[in-house]
Amino acid sequence: MKYLGKLLNLLFPSKCPVCGNKSDDHLYNPFCTKCWIGIEKYSGPACSICGIPTVSPLTITCESCLKAKPPFSKVLYYGIYDGALKEAIHLLKFNGVKRLSKPLSLMLSELPIPRADGIIPVPLHHKRLHQREFNQTASISQHLSKNLKIPLMLNVLKKTKETPPQTDVTGKERLKNLKGAFRAYGEINGMDLLLIDDVITSSATVRECAKTLIKAGAKSVTVVALARSMPKQNT
Ligand SMILES: [Zn+2]
Ligand SMILES: [Zn+2]
Repeated sequence: MKYLGKLLNLLFPSKCPVCGNKSDDHLYNPFCTKCWIGIEKYSGPACSICGIPTVSPLTITCESCLKAKPPFSKVLYYGIYDGALKEAIHLLKFNGVKRLSKPLSLMLSELPIPRADGIIPVPLHHKRLHQREFNQTASISQHLSKNLKIPLMLNVLKKTKETPPQTDVTGKERLKNLKGAFRAYGEINGMDLLLIDDVITSSATVRECAKTLIKAGAKSVTVVALARSMPKQNT
């Protein structure tokens, strides 16, 4: 596979979507090695629960998590939603560059993920799934499940209510819209679960998903995401 990728790249040279230089192994990853390894893991100050990155180094838990304990135990994410990482997520999500799910899932494998009984991707409503043809989060989860040897649980969480695209609404509206939008199926009683998302923006989605899973009997939910956007004023 690796050699085939190199060969194809030699025959049909393609450009890295970030710097425009030649990509090294287009079949595996359209990015050039330099841009790909330039994607940094976020290691700055962050809330110990929701992971919001603007807390000062002296604060361990952010104000919002102190006020109301979130339904998830922790949010882990690889980097800030910016630069090459943003470009990669965008290409996977909206341009259907599916081969990116493998290298992206390897990033997640580097995170300190706790032992769990199952991996659950944040679901798309079936209408949205139809439009986009595939759920990028499910595709990443599939690879992660193989990497970590934790079972993938695809039909446990479903989005039963259609909600407007996240970017069109404010944080508060988003929470209201998402209320009751998900439903859990099957037996998850007492399970420690990993909930996978691509980008955490307001955390409204993962909050609602985790709430649904806990209500259905899960013991704990740890959120694992590729990126987190830098917060403006909402959390
Ligand atoms: Zn590049
Ligand atoms: Zn927090």
